[in-house]
Amino acid sequence: MIRFSGRRIPTTWLALVAGAVALAAASPRAQALSAAVDAYVASHQREIVSSLIDLVSIPNVKGDAANLRRNATAVGDLLRARGFAVELVDTAAAPLVLGELKVPGATRTVLLYAHYDGQPVDPARWTPPTPFAAVLRSGRLGAAGVKDLPNVASLSTFDPDWRLYGRSAADDKAPIVAIAAALDALRSSGRAPTWNVKILADGEEESGSPGLTALAPTLRERLKADLLLMLDGPAHPSGRPTLVFGARGVLTFELTVYGPKQELHSGHYGNWIPNPAVRLSRLVASMKDDSGRVLVKGFYDGIAPLTNEERALLRSVPDDPDALLALFGVAGPEASAESLQEAYTRPSLNIRGISSGHVGAAATNVIPSEAVASFDIRLVTETPGTAILDKIKAHIASQGFHLVDRDPDDATRARYRDIVKLTVSAPTEAYRVSVTTPMSRMVIDGLSRALGQQPVVLRTSGATVPMADLSAAAGAPAISVQTVNFDDNQHTDNENVRLGHLFNAVKTIAALLTM
Ligand SMILES: [Zn+2]
Repeated sequence: MIRFSGRRIPTTWLALVAGAVALAAASPRAQALSAAVDAYVASHQREIVSSLIDLVSIPNVKGDAANLRRNATAVGDLLRARGFAVELVDTAAAPLVLGELKVPGATRTVLLYAHYDGQPVDPARWTPPTPFAAVLRSGRLGAAGVKDLPNVASLSTFDPDWRLYGRSAADDKAPIVAIAAALDALRSSGRAPTWNVKILADGEEESGSPGLTALAPTLRERLKADLLLMLDGPAHPSGRPTLVFGARGVLTFELTVYGPKQELHSGHYGNWIPNPAVRLSRLVASMKDDSGRVLVKGFYDGIAPLTNEERALLRSVPDDPDALLALFGVAGPEASAESLQEAYTRPSLNIRGISSGHVGAAATNVIPSEAVASFDIRLVTETPGTAILDKIKAHIASQGFHLVDRDPDDATRARYRDIVKLTVSAPTEAYRVSVTTPMSRMVIDGLSRALGQQPVVLRTSGATVPMADLSAAAGAPAISVQTVNFDDNQHTDNENVRLGHLFNAVKTIAALLTM
C-alpha cells in the first residue's frame, strides 16, 4: 500500500490505473532472472526463428489428417526435448498433445494451452502463394522498403520489427515455440520452473475444438492444474503484454417472420396482405432503443453496477477510440456505451444479417413471402445462454408474435397473423475470473516485475473463446496471455508474427513459469 492524496490505495490498483507511474519495484532475484532470459533470447534469436519456420512449414488446415498428425508429432518432439512426458491423444480429426513436466520441489501445477492448427488458406491470396513456406521480411508487407530476408541461417541479429510470414506463424505456433524457448532460457541460466508444467496443444481450435470438448471429461485428471494459462491471441495494439481475465460467450439464433405462402404482386395486394419484412423490422426495432440499450425485459439482470476499482481497471486500458472510429469510418459509438471496455461488461444483441425479398437489379414489386434476421448475443457470466433465450422468447411473445420452432402448417397460418420461427444454436457460456484473486494478482505482479512494464489487463475479452469449458476441465482459474502483434493478419492471407513480439513472448512465458 502507498499513500496517495491522503488515501491508502492498494499498490496493484494504483499501478493498474497509473500504468507507467507506479511500477512495482523488481526484486534483485527477478531482475537477475529477467536479465538472464533477455541475454538468452538475444543470443538465440536465430534458433528461435528457425524453430518457428520449421513448425510453420508443416501444413495444418482442417481435413489434412496426415499433416495435422505431423504437427502434433513435431510439437510433442519439442516438448520431449525439454524433458516432458508426452502423449498424443487421438480425436476424430487431429491428436491432442498432452505434455507434463514434473519439477522437483514444485507444489503447484500450471497448464498451458495453445493450438497447432490454422485457418484454411487460399494460396492465390498469399505473397508468394506458398503459405507454409515461411518468409522472413524486414517489416510489414506493403510498407515502403520492405524486403525479403531469405537466408535466415546467415543472419546473426534479428530486428524486432522484422516479421515472419506463414499460416499460424502468429495463431498459434509462435506461443508453442516461445514455450520451448522459455524453458531453454531457464535451463541455460541454471533455473527451473517453479511450477509443475502441463501442456495441452489442440489441433482443432479453428473448428471449435470438437475433439477436446468431447474428451475433456475423461481427461480431467490429466488436465488438472492450479492455474490455466491460454496462450492464444494478439496483445493490445499498444504492444504491451496483455492478460485477459475472461471471455464473453455467444448465443446465436435466427427469426423467420412469415407472409403469404408465395410472393404476391404489390399492386394487387399492397395495403391488404401484411408484409413480413415490415413485421420483422418492427420486432427487431422493439429490441433496442436509440442509445443501443437492449429493451428485452431482464436482459441485464444480475449485472451489478461497476465498482470504482472496476471502472479504474477499464480506464487503464490504453485504447484509442478516435483512431478506431476513424479507421472504421463511423461518427460515434452507441450512446449507451461509456467506452469500448465498458461495452464488454454487458451482453450485446447484434443482427448478423437480415434478408427479405430482393434488392438492387433483382428488385421486383412484390410482397415477400418471408423475412429472416440472424442474431448473435455476446453473453457475460451474469447472463447465461438459457436464461437470455427465455427472455428473448418472452419479448417476442410480448410483441404479439406466435412462436414456432418449424415452418407453420396451414392451420397455424390460418389462426395467427404474426408467426415467427425461432431456431437456436447451443450457446458457449461466458467466463470471468476476478483480477483481484490472489492467483490473478500473482500473475499481474509476476509479469510486471519480470518485464519491468505493466501488462494491459483486460477484465474480459469481447469475443468468445472456450475459457469456461477448459477452466472446468482443469479445475483451475483461466487467464489468457496474449503475446503476438495485433496486426498479424490472423485467419487471413499473409499471416505474420513480429519478431519483437515473439521474443517478448519468450520472456513473458519464462516470467510466468517462475512466479
Ligand atoms: Zn488461435
